[in-house]
Amino acid sequence: MMKTLLVYNTLTGNISERAVENTIKNLSKSNISAETLKTSVVGEAKDRIPEILNSNGIDFVTAMGGDGIINEAVNALAYKDIPLGIIPHGTTNAFAREKGIPLSVKKAIRLFKKENLKTIDLGLINDKQYFLMMCSYGFDVKALSEINLMVKRKLKIIAYILYGIRAFLLHKPVKVVIKLGKFEKYEGYFCIINNVKSYGNPLAKITPHASTEDGFLDVCIFRNSNKFSFLRNVIGIFTTRHIDFDDVIYFQTNNRVKINIKDKKEGIKDNLKIQLDGDVLSSLPIEVKPAKSALKIFLPKG
Ligand SMILES: [Mg+2]
Repeated sequence: MMKTLLVYNTLTGNISERAVENTIKNLSKSNISAETLKTSVVGEAKDRIPEILNSNGIDFVTAMGGDGIINEAVNALAYKDIPLGIIPHGTTNAFAREKGIPLSVKKAIRLFKKENLKTIDLGLINDKQYFLMMCSYGFDVKALSEINLMVKRKLKIIAYILYGIRAFLLHKPVKVVIKLGKFEKYEGYFCIINNVKSYGNPLAKITPHASTEDGFLDVCIFRNSNKFSFLRNVIGIFTTRHIDFDDVIYFQTNNRVKINIKDKKEGIKDNLKIQLDGDVLSSLPIEVKPAKSALKIFLPKG
């Protein structure tokens, strides 16, 4: 019998006691016993998982919820021998959708077997914060920082689209410089450093050649600030034609990527923020590098 630590956040995950009980019941049907870690503040799971792992015989951690709680679990488990399992719940399940993790509790639990264990890369920001999917800078951060929890719960995916359009119309882009190692340098108004192929939705393949097992991070930069160019690039993502556009730069790297503001006088507070795995959790300047084979995780085959 395996034992898992079931981690969830009642506030951001909107998870009821009944949903938790149901999950525990389903886990036990698969011969998995569960200890629960109920959190209600962002960051709590990340801090408390390591303490619990030190004391009891936990075989793996299960993150139940959206991309936020998964990011916290990832930060607690990076370079440890304890695997991560995912049970999608709530609004944003970008990672689960990209990787084909079933959205039903029963089916997601069926993945928690040795033969589904994989070792994948993560990204690391400023040598201290890991991301599973991506970090980015640009108008998307403005949208993400303005969506509050109530709006997110009520409108779900529509909230992201509405706030995205709003940010697109109101956001005054600030130019950043993206440096690779000592010599390579790019400039742009939007930049994503991606571990996975898509951004937010499996259809939006912003970095179509990305793999979570190649030791590289994929970088996509929009060089122009005008709204026409932005709109064309965003639409282009859905057919992946954007990577051939003149004002889009796309490459893969295992180098350190530094992002900083181009002109410090333009340092408006909002524009300096960056998002990690869908939450606004850090700010410029950042230095990002791949963390090769940093996470053990249960994933579907293929
Ligand atoms: Mg990669």
